Amino acid sequence: MFDFVIIGGGIIGLLTAKELQNNGANVAIIEKSSVGQQATWAAGGILSPMRPWHYCDAVNAISSISQSIYQQLSNELLEETGIDPQWVLSGMLILNDDDMASAINWCKANDDSHTLLSTAELATQFSHLKTLHEPALLRPNVATIKPHKLLAALTDYLTRKGVTFFNNHARLLVDNKNTVTAVQLNNRAVKAEQYIICGGAWSSQLIPSSVEQPDISPVKGQMICFPPTHIPSLCMVMDGNRYIIPRKDGRVVVGSTREHTGFDANTTQQAFNELRDFAQQLYPALTDVEPDTHWAGLRPATPNSIPYICRVEPYKNLSLNAGHYRNGIVTAPASAQLMADILLNKKSHLDPNPYKITRQTS
Ligand SMILES: Cc1cc2nc3c(=O)[nH]c(=O)nc-3n(C[C@H](O)[C@H](O)[C@H](O)COP(=O)(O)OP(=O)(O)OC[C@H]3O[C@@H](n4cnc5c(N)ncnc54)[C@H](O)[C@@H]3O)c2cc1C
Repeated sequence: MFDFVIIGGGIIGLLTAKELQNNGANVAIIEKSSVGQQATWAAGGILSPMRPWHYCDAVNAISSISQSIYQQLSNELLEETGIDPQWVLSGMLILNDDDMASAINWCKANDDSHTLLSTAELATQFSHLKTLHEPALLRPNVATIKPHKLLAALTDYLTRKGVTFFNNHARLLVDNKNTVTAVQLNNRAVKAEQYIICGGAWSSQLIPSSVEQPDISPVKGQMICFPPTHIPSLCMVMDGNRYIIPRKDGRVVVGSTREHTGFDANTTQQAFNELRDFAQQLYPALTDVEPDTHWAGLRPATPNSIPYICRVEPYKNLSLNAGHYRNGIVTAPASAQLMADILLNKKSHLDPNPYKITRQTS
């Protein structure tokens, strides 16, 4: 019998397990495919909402707490496992924002370091970009992390700390007294005091039909990556819904699409071409280089992008930590802390109300 069984081995499940395990609990994670191979694996690893001024306070609050934790988390994982999640203070350059005044006001109000660079300054400081005809906003304190490395480090860390992993599709068994009695796997049932659904885009499929349903749906995102190229800056560049993340090893990640195609996570030639053309146009150095990797993942979308981090009432022993949409990497540490605070009856730094299933959304 475990203290906690977590269903879903993406970033949210893994960090929730870490929080609970650090509090002395006996934790198991059940993952239907390989750990971290779904949305988390697909992510770019930008440690900020792309444009925080477009998000509500509930999203920015968990994002901002997480941003203050990430460097330390990355160092801790490196020290404990020898695997470097590659936290890099790369900075973020935002081009062609249609609402630059709101962006600057948001930065000022939130003490977020920023500079509006003139076209002349851009030509000097970002000479590897195409000629830009409008000023752009630089946020130098935005970091990135490499999701594949973060996943590898976290999995290794949790294994060393004694967290149990089951590789199986999970189904909840419930009685008629609003209690989960076990999680059914193919060949056995696993029991715990408390069960936590961290199933990303699939989370709604696990919620008992008798209770109020969370609104979580899949939104596909496709990404491509160029082989190592010499780009003399690690600064991310955002342009509309597209972005470029230069990695330390010289590879260049380009994202992303936003597609409502249900649970279909196939890649398409059209998206490949669009992302490649966008990158080659912005970075002339990529003109004669072909991307060598192309992948897709399913983001767990919710109304207003606010995740559900709460008990599933009236169930006595069922909770939900899911629905982080485009910000699941950056918001994961604070989401896991809030989930653990709720489960361990601790006072949280965050107001839990905006993250409940019963919240009001406009
Ligand atoms: C292309 C793309 C780019 C992104 N870029 C960024 C970014 O730069 N920054 C950022 O902050 N966020 C980004 N995101 C969003 C982020 O990746 C997600 O919000 C986050 O990974 C969600 O994590 P998760 O653990 O909830 O979901 P997942 O990583 O999808 O994990 C859920 C897991 O639950 C498992 N599961 C589901 N049902 C069951 C079941 N019945 N039994 C057992 N296991 C089950 C699944 O197999 C899966 O492994 C991006 C997403 C995409 C797709």
